[in-house]
Amino acid sequence: MARMTSMPRPLLNRRLAEFGTTIFAEMSALALSTGSINLGQGFPDTDGPEEVREAAVRALRDGRGNQYPPGPGIPELRTAIAAHQQRRYGLAYDPDTEVLVTAGATEAIAAALLGLLEPGDEVVALEPYYDSYAACIAMAGGRRVPVTLRPRDGAFRLDLDELRAAVTDRTRLLLINTPHNPTGTVLTREELTAIAALAVERDLLVVTDEVYEHLVFDDVEHVPLASLPGMRERTVTIGSAGKTFSFTGWKVGWVTAAPGLVAAVRSAKQFLTYVSSGPFQYAVAEALALPESYFTAFREDMRAKRDLLAAGLAEAGFGVFRTAGTYFITTDIRPLGESDGIAFCRALPERAGVVAIPNAVFYDHREAGAPFVRFAFCKRLEVLEEATRRLAKLRAR
Ligand SMILES: *Cc1c(COP(=O)(O)O)cnc(C)c1O
Repeated sequence: MARMTSMPRPLLNRRLAEFGTTIFAEMSALALSTGSINLGQGFPDTDGPEEVREAAVRALRDGRGNQYPPGPGIPELRTAIAAHQQRRYGLAYDPDTEVLVTAGATEAIAAALLGLLEPGDEVVALEPYYDSYAACIAMAGGRRVPVTLRPRDGAFRLDLDELRAAVTDRTRLLLINTPHNPTGTVLTREELTAIAALAVERDLLVVTDEVYEHLVFDDVEHVPLASLPGMRERTVTIGSAGKTFSFTGWKVGWVTAAPGLVAAVRSAKQFLTYVSSGPFQYAVAEALALPESYFTAFREDMRAKRDLLAAGLAEAGFGVFRTAGTYFITTDIRPLGESDGIAFCRALPERAGVVAIPNAVFYDHREAGAPFVRFAFCKRLEVLEEATRRLAKLRAR
């Protein structure tokens, strides 16, 4: 009897099959092969404060953190994180039971979802989303339910009715990100208050990614969700040193939450990396204690960069959305006579020598994100100036 030939089983499992490789790999390779300025991936092209870098060197030389640090993170850093939350937001966390150090915010997000979700649980998340959210929800066996941020009055805004309608009896968790990557939206106190009321009413957990907490511009205020009524006991807040101190390669992140929530996140975290970034933890503990002048100067520096790039993009003919926070400006390419952001970003290096990221890849509803393209402005002023000179070609055509 002839043997039935069957399709070979794919190597990549079904949970991850839809994700492929991230757009950043493709676009960064294009940047290299075309000699383009890479405004795609969000990392600064200058390092953070010299004294913080020196603190890492000292820790390494003194033999602090070169062996496995404690599972929850070194006490000095947990204490510094708790002090930061108290000083900035009046939020009191016990460094021993309510703070957990992670391998960047990326691990914090993964561990929170892996530790808190049962298979089939629904997670309501703001779309477009940071690229690890969908994959982490999938790895945890959850189901993502996107709520789309839509352009209104020059910025991307949340429709609170849409958010309320997305919550079902299967919803376990709201996954929030403010300041929001890639749109640059910072949720207002009113919006956050409505989210908090919904979470309390429907008894939901909230995971909130606040890695850009220090990068808000003009008179915009970052309000931590955990500071709103009824939220402290149900909210997992995620922070990171990478964005705040311009050391994205160090991968020091953290979680602050009530003891039961931290324990759940830790249960997953201990089997992912167990621990990470030993000497860098000592340096970040010192960084968090920097005077307010550091944070003010950092914000001011980034605001100037935002303004320069926003003006250049407008000059080149893009529709430019207002960025209230983060490293990013989202643009609309329709005024340039374009509508497909993915095709536009693939062609842009050849056309203008600049790399950007199509927002569509951050959506489930790709068509809702099709005409939007993200540019990072966390680069030296001369790099941004050269990028805007190059982009001016688009208009000249
Ligand atoms: C960069 C980023 C992260 C990842 O932070 P790491 O500390 O580098 O892991 C998480 N969330 C958002 C929204 C980000 O932009």
